Amino acid sequence: MQILDGNATSAYIKEQLKKEVEEMKASGHKVPHLAVIIVGNNPASEAYVANKVRTCKELGFESTHLHFETSITEEFLLEQVNKLNDDDSVDGILVQLPLPAHISGDVVINNINPAKDVDGFHPISQGKMLLGQPGFLPATPYGILLILEHYNIDVAGMDCVVIGRSNIVGTPMTILLSRNAKPGNATVTICHSRTKNLKEIVKRADLIVAAIGRPKFVTADMVKPGAIVIDVGINRIDDPTTKSGSRLVGDVDFENVAPLCSYITPVPKGVGPMTICGLMKNTIDAVKQKKLVNS
Ligand code: NAD
Repeated sequence: MQILDGNATSAYIKEQLKKEVEEMKASGHKVPHLAVIIVGNNPASEAYVANKVRTCKELGFESTHLHFETSITEEFLLEQVNKLNDDDSVDGILVQLPLPAHISGDVVINNINPAKDVDGFHPISQGKMLLGQPGFLPATPYGILLILEHYNIDVAGMDCVVIGRSNIVGTPMTILLSRNAKPGNATVTICHSRTKNLKEIVKRADLIVAAIGRPKFVTADMVKPGAIVIDVGINRIDDPTTKSGSRLVGDVDFENVAPLCSYITPVPKGVGPMTICGLMKNTIDAVKQKKLVNS
């Protein structure tokens, strides 16, 4: 069994991105600028945003971090997004989800200029992905493709099972694994909360992507020996043995599943850091696209 090390892989990719930014600077171009909006005080969201802003600094990007109270209106948030849409110095815009219940995530995402949609959630980005056209891939599925590529894992012809059908992870993952591209060309089954015989279906898989949001959902009896397991889940569970009283686990029962696998991503230090790589690569691409349009 080999661990797919998201920390080491992302460190390697970030080193390349840092050089790319240095070259942009040296040739007189502006550095990529990512604007991140967060609403409210969800501790997990705050940690994700802080990490994204920190990574911008690490890579030499410019970043803008806007933090608003839960009480803001949807109209106010749309105004802020529009300001960033109109600001030529901003290349990428990310609105951290989830938003408070009185603000529609769909409306806000749809309002982001598609040329700055570096999270890849806008319908135009999703449509381009579906049609196999160049565009921003959703950051987490993009990160998963990057780690598979890094470890030279060719999924062509594999039976892949994706568990979870969200618009940001499960559904785009099925499209990307099955498209006629590299990585791609896999035979993909998508499972969700209404799937019958889930265990039998997952057990057939050469590659499992677990994106459910339920701790230790994928157990050893669901995994074929030699399978590759990508654990997207991030769940906080109580653990009185730790200082904080809790710890993060994935959607996979790592302890019992890992010995069966050929490759597995851990949680933490697996898909999480790769998602940030996907986001940073998209932001650099946003700058390159702009240069193409303006040249
Ligand atoms: P979501 O809640 O939008 O979707 C969960 C999916 O799981 C749904 O499509 C649902 O049909 C399916 N599901 C729920 N119960 C099920 C069951 N009993 N059997 C089969 N399927 C079931 O979640 P999401 O946004 O896709 O995120 C999934 C997990 O991944 C969460 O833990 C989230 O925190 C994590 N996540 C991690 C990253 C990262 O960077 N590592 C990024 C995004 C999401």
